[in-house]
Amino acid sequence: MDTLLDRFCRYVKVETTAVEETKDYPSSPGQLELGKMLTAELKALGAANVTHEEGGVVLATIPGNVDGAPTIAWLAHQDTSPEASGKHVKPTLHKNYDGQNINLPGDPTKVIKVDEFPDLKELKGKTIITSDGTTLLGADDKAGIAVIMTAAEHLLKNPAIKHGPIRVGFTCDEEVGRGTDKVDIQKINATAAYTLDGESGGGLENETFSADLATVTITGFNIHPGFAKDKMVNAIRIAGHFLARLPQEKSPEMTGGRDGFLHPYVLEGGVDKATIKILLRSFVTSELEEEAKILQDLAKAVMAEHPKAKIDVAVKKQYRNMIEYLKKEPRAVKLAEQAYRNAGIEPKFQSIRGGTDGSRLSEMGLPTPNLSTGMHNFHSPLEFACLEQMESAVKVLIELAQLWGKEK
Ligand SMILES: [Zn+2]
Repeated sequence: MDTLLDRFCRYVKVETTAVEETKDYPSSPGQLELGKMLTAELKALGAANVTHEEGGVVLATIPGNVDGAPTIAWLAHQDTSPEASGKHVKPTLHKNYDGQNINLPGDPTKVIKVDEFPDLKELKGKTIITSDGTTLLGADDKAGIAVIMTAAEHLLKNPAIKHGPIRVGFTCDEEVGRGTDKVDIQKINATAAYTLDGESGGGLENETFSADLATVTITGFNIHPGFAKDKMVNAIRIAGHFLARLPQEKSPEMTGGRDGFLHPYVLEGGVDKATIKILLRSFVTSELEEEAKILQDLAKAVMAEHPKAKIDVAVKKQYRNMIEYLKKEPRAVKLAEQAYRNAGIEPKFQSIRGGTDGSRLSEMGLPTPNLSTGMHNFHSPLEFACLEQMESAVKVLIELAQLWGKEK
C-alpha cells in the first residue's frame, strides 16, 4: 500500500523549483512532470473529473455521497522555493528522533540545531524527515500535496464516511508570487477552500498582511561632471536622502507581532534616474494609505530641498488581509477549528506576516484559510517535516470533510 511517507518521498524527488526570471507558466518543466504524476495517481485512485489544465494546475473531484452538502476544496502548490536547490532531493529519515541536533549527512556544515529551532523540542520520539543538507526538502508544499492525496484516497476507499463533494487543486508558482495566475475559481466552484501550506502542526492561519507595492521614481539631470556646477541633479544622492529619512522603527527588522512596516527592498539607478521599490505591509488595510502618505510627504519634503529634481510615488495593490473576506463565510474557519478539535488537536490561530495564495483567492471570492501540514523551517537546506504532524493533517481533512457534509 502507498503510504503518506511513500508519497511524500516520491513527490520531493521531482525538481519543481520555481523560476523568477521567466514569463513561462509554469516557470519550470518539473512542475508539469509532477502534475502529470499526480493526474495519473488521482485517476488510479478513482477521483472524478481529473484534469491537468493548461498552465499546469491539476484539478480533480472526490464525489460527495450525501445530498445537498456544499463543495469544498483542498489546495496545495507543486513548486518549491528558488531560495535553495530542489535538484536531486534525497529525503532522509530520522526515526524515533532523539531530541538532539540533527547533522545532515550530505554537508557537514549543515546542522539543524535545537536551540535555533525550538519546535524540535516537542518532536522527540517522532519521525523527522530532512534533506541530506545539499538541497531544500520541499515539504513546502509537497507535505500539503501528500496530505491531500492521502486524505483523498481514504475518502474514496471508505464510502461509509459521509461527505459532500471535494475539489482537489494543485497549483504552480506560488513561491514566485504567481500561484493564482492560472486558478479559475469558477472551475473550482467551491463554498470554501483550504490551502495545506502552513508550517508546524495545529496551526490555523486566518489572517495575512494587506500589501501594496510603492515605486519611488527620482528624476535628476545628468551632465559631464566637469561642467556640472549648478546644473547636475544627482538622483542617486537624492535617493540616499529619501531612504535615510524613512521611519526606521517601521521596518521589518524592528517590528513583529501585529505591527506593519515599510520595507525598501530594491534600489536601482544612475545620476539621471533612480528607482526605489518599497513594500507596504499592515494587518489593517486602511493603514496602507497612511504608509503611502509617509512616502508622499517625504517626496514633497525632499523635492522642496532639491527643487530641480522630480520625485514620483506610485502605489500598486498587491493583496489583502484574508480575514476581511473570511467573514463572509464564517463556516470556513469555524468548521476547520472544529475539525482540529475532532482530530484531538487544539487549534492555534495564527496571523501570517506575509501573504498566501489564500489571501488572493479569498479576495476573489473563495474564502481560503491555511492549515498546518507539519513542515518547518522551509526555503532552506535546514528544512524538515514531521511525519506524525503530516498524519494529523490528514485526520483534520477527513474530519473537515465530514463536518461540511452535514452542512447545506
Ligand atoms: Zn508554501
